[in-house]
Amino acid sequence: MKTIAFHTLGCKLNFAESSDMLRTFIRNGFTQVDFHQVADVYVVNTCSVTQVAEKKCRNAIRQAVKLNPNAVIAVIGCFAQLRPTDIEAIEGVDIILGNDKKHLLYESVTAADSISNTPNNNIIAASSDDRTRCFLKIQDGCDYFCSYCTIPFARGRSRSANIDSVIAEANRIAAEGKKEIILTGINIGTFGKNSGETFFGLMQRLEKDTSIERYRISSIEPNLLTEEMIDFVANSRVFLPHFHIPLQAGTDTILKSMRRKYDTALFANRLDKIYSRMPDAFVAADVITGFPGETDNEFNAAKDFIYSLKNLSALHVFTYSERPNTLSVSLPDKVPYNIRKRRSLDLQEISQNKKHAFYNRNIGSKRKVLWEDTNIGGYIYGFTDNYIRVRKEYNEHSVNRIEEFLVENTSLIL
Ligand code: SF4
Repeated sequence: MKTIAFHTLGCKLNFAESSDMLRTFIRNGFTQVDFHQVADVYVVNTCSVTQVAEKKCRNAIRQAVKLNPNAVIAVIGCFAQLRPTDIEAIEGVDIILGNDKKHLLYESVTAADSISNTPNNNIIAASSDDRTRCFLKIQDGCDYFCSYCTIPFARGRSRSANIDSVIAEANRIAAEGKKEIILTGINIGTFGKNSGETFFGLMQRLEKDTSIERYRISSIEPNLLTEEMIDFVANSRVFLPHFHIPLQAGTDTILKSMRRKYDTALFANRLDKIYSRMPDAFVAADVITGFPGETDNEFNAAKDFIYSLKNLSALHVFTYSERPNTLSVSLPDKVPYNIRKRRSLDLQEISQNKKHAFYNRNIGSKRKVLWEDTNIGGYIYGFTDNYIRVRKEYNEHSVNRIEEFLVENTSLIL
């Protein structure tokens, strides 16, 4: 049975509304506990926007996080309506609903919480598109609540398989004859968050205790990609020099408004570190264009920042679109849709240039390629360790083999 605690500030109307909302939770099987006790859900219903109210709100949130770091914490009411960005900045807040959205409290809480209860042993899942490599899901859900993203509501809080079960699954995949595993998840840097294990610990065990020859990390948040992980990959026998790091915005103002957990300086620092240890690594980044508040100046500054990242090899560009019940829906200064699209095209062009430059730098180098299992028009295809798509004349003896290969202009697939 789930427990819920309310803390109500301000006027009588607010107290009446809190009682109403509490009744909905109780009708649906929740038990009320005191706000000073451990609960699964904490709701802070704010009223007047005074400095005292703001201080009380912050204190209540801190208290809730301390009592249960895994609780869903919702801040609702006037303060949430008028100063959502101030509340976003408070660590631990999952849901912010102004007066106009208060009625969505029950749906928002249950969506954020429900899928979190999936048992950890149901998380691990392997899927494959050919017999040489496999995508291995090791983690699901996310606790970050970026302001544009519905994933924490749709997939619940972060949870992971445990290291021993991932090792067993990787060895089962190796026994099938596959050579490469791509580790996937929604936010895999948070692997092990609730069990005391870590993603770095998993990487070390995978290298030591499995017979898979190549591992790639599908995507990892920049703030969770530590220097020790980068050093580890640089010296690794099996982890490949290939990174996918979500940037999402190229200025600190928009990153803050997106509720991302890093700034541009941190992102640039991670890329510098990768370059210093693995100058040939392929590094891709996700970017969103047209987020609210992205003025021409903001966009141009973002473009300059992206240009300045010399070892960024490609971008995955997404055009911002409003998703129901996300915080960014209520942000002012919307960007017209045609401008969002135009900016996406701009960034796609930058991405093409960066990718060509990266491929050209590699012409004439010898890289290890895992050849795939299909004959397409007389050619066999594969990826180099540093994620360059290449082909050569089909030869069935090369299928599912890792071979040293001279990268030439004619072998590149752009
Ligand atoms: S964008 Fe990624 S990190 Fe942010 S909430 Fe969504 S899944 Fe989590």
